[in-house]
Amino acid sequence: MASIFSQIVDGEIPARVVYEDETTMAFLDANPLAPGHTLVIPKAEHERLNDLPDDLASDLYDTLHRLIPVIEGAVDAPASNVAFNNGEAAGQEVPHVHGHIIPRFEDDGGNPIHAIAG
Ligand code: IMP
Repeated sequence: MASIFSQIVDGEIPARVVYEDETTMAFLDANPLAPGHTLVIPKAEHERLNDLPDDLASDLYDTLHRLIPVIEGAVDAPASNVAFNNGEAAGQEVPHVHGHIIPRFEDDGGNPIHAIAG
């Protein structure tokens, strides 16, 4: 059974896609912890960061690096939390590598890293 994120890549379930290239994709989180909360994934299904081949890890980082200022700018956020839950015991619910970009605002209360770590 393909992961829910592979089903998004394949267009089998809808998503609000904000970026796509040959090897990576980004879409809005269905349960956002802040406006603009975005998930960045490799299109190929790998469970953990260290399962990624080097070239794909590099592509994923490049996409994250490119999108962080774009996402922050889109919601006028001065900062963001960028995080991976890497493994089930760390709170990873979807077994397909994904980085969270969570825009942060002055005095928005609490640190969402705690929330995404389940
Ligand atoms: P994790 O706990 O790091 O694995 O985070 C999984 C994230 O995927 C959660 O923030 C969920 O809200 C998000 N999510 C689960 N299913 C979907 C979906 O179908 N579309 C977009 N986001 C999803």
